[in-house]
Amino acid sequence: MNLHHPNHDLLIRRETPSGRPLPRVSHLAIAAHQDDVEIFACHGILECFRREDRNFGAVIVTDGAGSARTGRYSACGDEDMQGIRREEQRQAAAIGDYAFVAQLAYPSARIRESGETDSVDDLVAILEASAPETLYLHNPFDKHATHVAVLGKCLAAMRRLPEEQRPKRIFGCEVWRDLDWLPDARKVALPVDGMPNLRAALLRVFDSQISGGKRYDLAAEGRRMANATFHESHEVDKGDRLTFALDLSPIFHDETADPQNFLDVVINEFRNEVAGNARLLLP
Ligand SMILES: [Zn+2]
Repeated sequence: MNLHHPNHDLLIRRETPSGRPLPRVSHLAIAAHQDDVEIFACHGILECFRREDRNFGAVIVTDGAGSARTGRYSACGDEDMQGIRREEQRQAAAIGDYAFVAQLAYPSARIRESGETDSVDDLVAILEASAPETLYLHNPFDKHATHVAVLGKCLAAMRRLPEEQRPKRIFGCEVWRDLDWLPDARKVALPVDGMPNLRAALLRVFDSQISGGKRYDLAAEGRRMANATFHESHEVDKGDRLTFALDLSPIFHDETADPQNFLDVVINEFRNEVAGNARLLLP
């Protein structure tokens, strides 16, 4: 497979049909950093785990050089850290039974540059080769600029694909800002009950991040529990873990759609929902 950045890393774990550079997958996640996929696309990993008829693939766009480091990792230079995070991501792929994981190794600052197209070329090639039906991405309301920039690269890549090659279901998922606030009609609830040991292992394999002082493992599971409980105020919990997503097909399936306009529409729906209760504030 021809990927642009010389430091890219491709791990293929399932049989690849001859003449194709990658296995086909039913579910694909594209994320900015190592560990984002395991936080936001747990639904897809569980759906595919040890199934004959489904496959999960993951793409990590940046090189992971910018992460904080303390304790045993405090002496690591940027290059060491990139190697450690690359290895952690490969281990997650083994634990989660992924068909492949592609780590594209772009510096974050380069991804945030407008006009950068090498990563878009890579994403087009991966989407064409792996032909997913369900795609898990960052959401446009995330507060991490690199996450939103990676989503932008995914949008540019999608618009280069012919319509029949585009995934049917496209979800913008939670990492740095949850999606609890979305009006329910916009909110896709993705259950992640079951296989608690697998869920824990997928989060904890990223020791360099957790030991670096960020308990992403506890926070991600805590958010899933909170989502399940606070989703429906008048119903008992149907499952005990949920992740939320925004359906991105309005901008990904219609190339004339303006992303900024889509964001305004969703924010206005939220505004109207809140305003509907504002009269209850009157004494
Ligand atoms: Zn991230």
